[in-house]
Amino acid sequence: MEILVATENTHKLKELSAIFADHTLFTPHEKGIEYFFEETGETFLANAQGKALALHEQAGSPVIADDSGLVVPALGGEPGVYSARYGSPAGGPNLDTPERNRYLLGKMEGLTDRRSYFVCCMVLVLTPERFFVAQETLPGRIISEPRGSYGFGYDPLFYLNEYNQTVAELPEAEKNKISHRGRAGIRLRAVLDSL
Ligand code: IMP
Repeated sequence: MEILVATENTHKLKELSAIFADHTLFTPHEKGIEYFFEETGETFLANAQGKALALHEQAGSPVIADDSGLVVPALGGEPGVYSARYGSPAGGPNLDTPERNRYLLGKMEGLTDRRSYFVCCMVLVLTPERFFVAQETLPGRIISEPRGSYGFGYDPLFYLNEYNQTVAELPEAEKNKISHRGRAGIRLRAVLDSL
């Protein structure tokens, strides 16, 4: 099936294309669609559903959107839905990834409870009245120095005890098998297969 993905994030798109390998994914840009959605929701679900329905309304074709982020309970749930712009000044330019990761490490200085989890809420919209939602998590902990060069975002700081590696040390195919995005995608892939 041809599916529009409500993102221009090339890392996410690469992961989603591997997860939905039996389908053909396009970005709005590739289809000449000018799409912008302001993520003002307070939950991953509100943002993912908002993004997906807004793009479907514009394009009329099946859409997948994901809203994802990192949750650190010892920081009261930060960065949460603000993961992409964490530490960036309101209305100002976005920090780059190493700066954002250093900002997170600064916030966590002295914290002994370093447990954390990634969340991915993924929504597949077939029509405005017919959509499917999967939200999954990946638990781990935040280490104090970045490690590894695969993946994106907070991956170099996100340590998986059972692998003795950070997510950024896992090749993409391995990450997709266990990640929050991979797990949510597998659920929605099963929905697509069952249609
Ligand atoms: P959004 O879903 O586009 O709002 O952005 C989610 C943000 O959360 C990304 O920009 C990353 O900072 C972070 N994030 C989400 N998923 C991952 C992941 O798989 N690895 C590392 N960081 C992630």
